[in-house]
Amino acid sequence: MASLFTSLASTFTGTKANPLVEISSEVPPTQSTSPNQDTTSTQPTSPIVPVSVNCFPHRQCNYSCSFCFHTSLSSTILPFSEMKHGLRLLRQAGMKKINISGGEPFLFPHLGDLIQFCKTELKLESTGIISNGSKVTLKWLEEYGEYLDILGISCDSFDDDTNRGIGRKDEGNLKGVHKNKLNTVVNKWNWEEDMNDCIEEIAPFRWKVFQVLLLEGENVGPNALRNAVDVSVTNEQFQAFLDRHASQKSLVPEDNEAMESSYLLLDEEMRFVNCQGGKKIPGRSLLERGVQAALQDAGWEADTFVARGGVYDWQKPDENNLDW
Ligand code: SF4
Repeated sequence: MASLFTSLASTFTGTKANPLVEISSEVPPTQSTSPNQDTTSTQPTSPIVPVSVNCFPHRQCNYSCSFCFHTSLSSTILPFSEMKHGLRLLRQAGMKKINISGGEPFLFPHLGDLIQFCKTELKLESTGIISNGSKVTLKWLEEYGEYLDILGISCDSFDDDTNRGIGRKDEGNLKGVHKNKLNTVVNKWNWEEDMNDCIEEIAPFRWKVFQVLLLEGENVGPNALRNAVDVSVTNEQFQAFLDRHASQKSLVPEDNEAMESSYLLLDEEMRFVNCQGGKKIPGRSLLERGVQAALQDAGWEADTFVARGGVYDWQKPDENNLDW
């Protein structure tokens, strides 16, 4: 894995990164909907700007994490041409950053083309992928790495037994990661773990630490494919993990409240899903009803997005200044 990410550096051969664009002023005042709001209502008076979108093009994954809240409930994958059309509409509405998640993004057959399209045709400021790390290949990075700004890796533990308990089947694929983003979900298996030494070794530019989020129908309830109740942690346990790692400057904590309302989550049918109220409720498809109608259903709060640090230096570094 070390060589994989060392090689990643050499694949980032794009043009010199532009100076950071100050975009926080473009984020509109808080506009959100609740799950109970009438989604057939008229357009808002001022348009919602989808500055940063998390796109889930499919739900397939080779892992089975017990707390997963985007499980393989459906096998839908839109035709790539439809997906590109939807992303063009989002770009026109003000999208500047896209993050591809899943399922496991590297199981999505058009991932490379999608990242390239977003960077070269849509000219997004930032393209990102959040992966479990098991399917990333040098071949892919050599072919598409120049179009990718951020590669995030989910890493919940550096202990093999803990990873097995969580449901991460593959082992030992994370050590040696350099200058990348890490995501960690604090759960009953890892909340007492001290990850400081490994995090310092990896030195991610951004380490996002989440609390297990329970969502009816995804990881809790009779129709869910997972049961995350048994692995969830209390607010006190989550805080204890944060306190233990308080010296990590890259740490960005996100409790359940921030997770529920600060992300624009675009599902496999190009619907924003509303996570407020303990469920994931898909809204209207932006392909069928347009971007603003779809955004009204998202339950997204721009203020919470900004408060959780959703606007940051999201472009890859100038290749001439890489220190990896
Ligand atoms: S790696 Fe991610 S998408 Fe896959 S099961 Fe785990 S949490 Fe879910």
